[in-house]
Amino acid sequence: MTDLSDLLSQTRDLALRYMESLPQRRIAQQPDHHKLVAALGGPLGDEGLDPGVVVQQLADGADPGLVATTAGRFFGFVEGGVLPAALAADWLTAAWDQNPGFYTISPAAAVVEEVVAGWILDLLALPPHASVGFTTGAQMAILAGLAAGRHHVLEQAGWDVDADGLTGAPPVRVIVGEERHATIGRALRFLGLGERAVTVVPADHQGRMDAAALRAELARSDVPTIVAAQAGNVNTGSFDPFREIGEATRAHGAWLHVDGAFGLWAAASPRYRHLVDGIELADSWATDAHKTLNVPYDSGIVVCARPATHQAALSLRAPYLTLAGHETRNGSDWTPESSRRARAFAVWAAFRSLGRSGVARLVEGLCDNAQRFASGLARSADLEVLNDVVFTQVLFRVGDDDDRTRETARLIQQSGDAWLGETLWRDTVALRISVSDHATSGEDVDRTIAAINDASAAAA
Ligand SMILES: *Cc1c(COP(=O)(O)O)cnc(C)c1O
Repeated sequence: MTDLSDLLSQTRDLALRYMESLPQRRIAQQPDHHKLVAALGGPLGDEGLDPGVVVQQLADGADPGLVATTAGRFFGFVEGGVLPAALAADWLTAAWDQNPGFYTISPAAAVVEEVVAGWILDLLALPPHASVGFTTGAQMAILAGLAAGRHHVLEQAGWDVDADGLTGAPPVRVIVGEERHATIGRALRFLGLGERAVTVVPADHQGRMDAAALRAELARSDVPTIVAAQAGNVNTGSFDPFREIGEATRAHGAWLHVDGAFGLWAAASPRYRHLVDGIELADSWATDAHKTLNVPYDSGIVVCARPATHQAALSLRAPYLTLAGHETRNGSDWTPESSRRARAFAVWAAFRSLGRSGVARLVEGLCDNAQRFASGLARSADLEVLNDVVFTQVLFRVGDDDDRTRETARLIQQSGDAWLGETLWRDTVALRISVSDHATSGEDVDRTIAAINDASAAAA
């Protein structure tokens, strides 16, 4: 039997070997699916195996199916990298196995959540009295923010939705931008408000919500209303005009939620803060630490300007839970989960290792590389950059041709040199670059531009 010390050393070696292999690794290895299943599958034997054998089997079996998203040349979806301090804290988190749901079972986790909450509000210039919850990702943070909004707007109408449900409740209007993220719709499904039962406000050519159209829509009716705006569109990286949107929703008494999964971090940089001007006028915000902040999966954050509403919508209620101290933080009051991983430890470590200026430099470094892509791609006659590159996202098209654009993505993915994905932007096929990894260097960008040029020529 491998002893614990040997097991952890072996695991450390396996992790290090993987990380050291990243510069040479193909980004996606395109493994044979059946071989992957054969290596990791088969019947679960009757007898257990030695932990050292188990870890080795996992590492060997998984390796061909790992996508090198942290190698610096993965630009698909919006995938953050891993800061060393956050990785180390995440290992400790598993070793400590703390449940941050209740103060009594982990004062350390509760205090770290409280401390990190304060740092987040400060860095993102959000109201200092706001409440903060730590979720798996922006999806659950959006659910939490919209749940608080649903509670608030119905309470204003004299209805306690959390006690009495939606049956017989006054109707709730949900206004969203045309270019909202898909996770907004899923949250509305969970909340019984319905994915299709939304009022959609048009967006402009960059995907920004039309504030005048929102104002007109708000004026049309005074039923309880929730508005969902966006900081950072997944395709263009654009930001909604928050000041106008915030003033309009406040004047109407509506609830404003902001989905800022990766874009909210613009607030941490003096250079990019203007993009989120007026964001403090919102009532709730959702963001991720596993994207722009480069904390390992998973790590989302919800912030709410009305702590009592946040708590009323989400807290767990059971007589035995009153054992947990009232003056102190119970993490389960602020998220949809009860027991969960103590995610704030890794966020704490990310913040401590970067400091305020380091967070700003992280954001600015990602944006600098996005600009480097934009100017590099613009030098090729065949490539057209489709968006105003204001943040970390670059959208482009090849030869004004859907098939050639698609084929270019396929060839790049196949090359193993880099990875970027296809998207649909306003009914045309486009390729999307999301610069979200601190490990990406200028050299990585140049090498990827070369791969794009090779692939687009081959796809002609
Ligand atoms: C990634 C993303 C989400 C969903 O976040 P998860 O971390 O996957 O839950 C929501 N909105 C936007 C704009 C995103 O980029």
